[in-house]
Amino acid sequence: MNDNKLSALYQGVKILHDPIRNKGTAFTEADREALNLTGLLPPRVHSPAEQEQRVLGNIRNKSTDLEKYLYLISLQDRNETLFYRVVMNNIYEMMPLIYTPTVGQACQEFQHIFRRPRGFYVTARDRGNIKKILQNWPHKEAKIIVITDGERILGLGDLGAQGMGIPIGKLSLYTACAGFQPAQCLPVMFDVGTDNEALLNDPLYNGLEQRRMRGEQYDDLLDEFIDAATELFPGVLIQFEDFGNTNAFRLLDKYRNKINCFNDDIQGTAAVVLSGIIGALRINGGKLSEQRLLFLGAGEAGIGTADTFVAALVEEGIPVEKARKQCFFYDTQGLLTSDREYIADHKKRFARKLPPVENFLEAINLIKPTAILGLSGQPGSFPREVIETMAQINKRPIIFALSNPTSKAECTAEDTYRWTKGRAIFASGSPFAPVKLGNKTHVPGQGNNVYIFPGVGLGAIVSGAKHVTDEMFLAAAHSLANQVSEEQLAVGNVYPPLDNIREVCALIACEVAKIVWERGLTDREQPQDILAEIKKHMYQPVYPHYG
Ligand code: NAD
Repeated sequence: MNDNKLSALYQGVKILHDPIRNKGTAFTEADREALNLTGLLPPRVHSPAEQEQRVLGNIRNKSTDLEKYLYLISLQDRNETLFYRVVMNNIYEMMPLIYTPTVGQACQEFQHIFRRPRGFYVTARDRGNIKKILQNWPHKEAKIIVITDGERILGLGDLGAQGMGIPIGKLSLYTACAGFQPAQCLPVMFDVGTDNEALLNDPLYNGLEQRRMRGEQYDDLLDEFIDAATELFPGVLIQFEDFGNTNAFRLLDKYRNKINCFNDDIQGTAAVVLSGIIGALRINGGKLSEQRLLFLGAGEAGIGTADTFVAALVEEGIPVEKARKQCFFYDTQGLLTSDREYIADHKKRFARKLPPVENFLEAINLIKPTAILGLSGQPGSFPREVIETMAQINKRPIIFALSNPTSKAECTAEDTYRWTKGRAIFASGSPFAPVKLGNKTHVPGQGNNVYIFPGVGLGAIVSGAKHVTDEMFLAAAHSLANQVSEEQLAVGNVYPPLDNIREVCALIACEVAKIVWERGLTDREQPQDILAEIKKHMYQPVYPHYG
């Protein structure tokens, strides 16, 4: 057999094993002929719709969510087009599997469920070598990187290299929701070790066996990665994800004006929560300027949300100092007051003179908030008395239990609706099922940054943004809030239905891109119709023709 014939044969088999180009049983007869695949596949050609039915049947037959997750990931490894078709056509069913809550369990059990690698690992051992190894990544057109160092995975703490499931899951959502091509997405695990004792003692743990590297060494390694990534993938957008609290704020400050980047936990969460509050005010008739927000948790998500809420009030003409006084924080040390001995930089602007308070309920009685926002990762921390007290103070209290995964939510949807006799306006970070009380069904909204980050990323990339700014997240929050229909609000849901997520992302992307052009943050020429341009870039899970 001559070399040409051999290479043609090899080409067909290569496509069969390439998840981006594979069609499985949907290779048509013409495809099979052209690619020398005849005989290598079962004879019957199936349509994508039939393949989808098979996949759905298999998923629904699995008895646990983790098995479903594994099945989906192995489908993604075999046939990405079919994977995205299934995810996009069945977003309500699939999102909790490829994202929170199941992805949290997958990260916790990563050492046991590991099958095929996905994503890119940069480790403390790669110092001086990162640009070279990054060229091993097979796709040269990366446009979006989600990077984590695994220190604060959801509300589950330090999972070290096992946190890789998060960038993988987030990037799957970039494709499913915002239409990034799979090959444009690069998940990165920045493995600098772990301080998780159980993982360090586990012989199956597959990350670096060392305690976390910190300080200058950490910063130098990350700088090297950022330099390599921005040089090899010009214009790439870098999303920082699930970094520990101190690094998260520090790194955002360091890089935000240097490269095209954002921190999803700080900025993405903020936009989705603000949008939920605006939606809730459409239900209870309140005004943004009259809200008193009490946060449980003063970390990335809490402080980020308060900053964005303040920015929204400033937009309405309220002075920043006054706006900040509408935000209160309760964390591990109690109510955030200015007489604390040590206050981390990111909290200082919200610390003020308040009487000492010993528990969260007391804080509610003192502050009389219109909304409590759970961003603490502490399950059950909104107990019955807390929720009943909120309902005594407010006709329609806003109660958001935003910690992920579901097992970490501050309260459940069912308890919240029952204890407030259906008066609470509830949203959660991970999904909860609708709750029937009497003859009314309450539909909890999913206050999750999945509504925000894919659209912001899409807008930034299509417009060629040099930087992502807070103003863009504020615009994203308003855009999301404007997309909630009266029907949604009537059942208590402050977010648009997830099956509209592609449209939601496109409209958010459009608002973000407008700001990029208005502020001169790009060298790219503005198209006449920004939305049409954005939609043109959105991937559809459609097979190529080979025959
Ligand atoms: P973080 O580590 O930066 O902050 C956690 C905060 O909670 C800290 O201020 C800590 O002091 C406080 N805290 C911890 N235990 C507490 C307790 N017992 N009582 C009071 N306060 C306590 O983490 P983060 O990034 O802010 O995330 C916090 C939670 O929010 C996580 O569970 C995460 O999954 C969730 N989150 C949800 C979304 C979403 O889209 N819904 C987005 C980001 C984060």
